[in-house]
Amino acid sequence: MKLTFLGTGTSTGVPSIACDCETCSSQDPRDKRLRVSVVIEHGDQTVLVDTSSDFRQQALRYGLKHLDAVLITHCHADHIFGLDDIRPLNFRFGALGIYANEHAWTDIRRIFKYIFEPSHFGGGLPQVIAHTVQPNASFFLGRELEITPLEVIHGRLPVMAYRFNDFAYATDLSEIPAQTMESMRGLDVLVLDCLRFREHPTHLWVDKALAYIDELKPRRAFLTHIAHDVLHERDSQRLPPNIKWAYDGLEVEG
Ligand SMILES: [Zn+2]
Ligand SMILES: [Zn+2]
Ligand SMILES: [Zn+2]
Repeated sequence: MKLTFLGTGTSTGVPSIACDCETCSSQDPRDKRLRVSVVIEHGDQTVLVDTSSDFRQQALRYGLKHLDAVLITHCHADHIFGLDDIRPLNFRFGALGIYANEHAWTDIRRIFKYIFEPSHFGGGLPQVIAHTVQPNASFFLGRELEITPLEVIHGRLPVMAYRFNDFAYATDLSEIPAQTMESMRGLDVLVLDCLRFREHPTHLWVDKALAYIDELKPRRAFLTHIAHDVLHERDSQRLPPNIKWAYDGLEVEG
């Protein structure tokens, strides 16, 4: 299994427009964060989590050549606004399976109405095969990649996290329900939302993320959806050795 971080930034991206803070001015490439997204590769499957607002740039930067499926966590703009940019993959490979929960599909159909109710003549629309996921209803892509959708709570919004065999990706959350905690045991790699050190109403912050990691005991953990409060080099020293700030381009193999 290989997980590649295409983006690790909070919704504004880092640097943030018009900000001169230490992180936004940093020359360290690990302080430059596109909007959150990962690619999972296992066996013959390549799966993208979220079509971020930076998806086109990410696909070009990391040489993405093919996707077997896209999993959607939720429909905030930073996670979904790149959906139109799957079209070049459609032109080559045909329609692409998109997996999302019922709540997200309602939003996708509203935000991208033109995809589902085409009113203009001619091609050029994303071609989507809609799959609705249910919490804890696992499914396979290929023969070796088992995906378990997991419900987490993002402020008040139920959001999907995903387990891939013994990897899990859980971004944009402030609470992990007890049943989901049970489904996140025995992980090799946990990627977890962690905005910054200070508290936040809809995201995890360092103390709360570390408490969940301490309870779940994955072998390794990576923090993502990072705001400009976090300076990679300086703030890496404030984490335990098996927990790291993720950064764009980081590859994790297991
Ligand atoms: Zn987000
Ligand atoms: Zn800044
Ligand atoms: Zn969100």
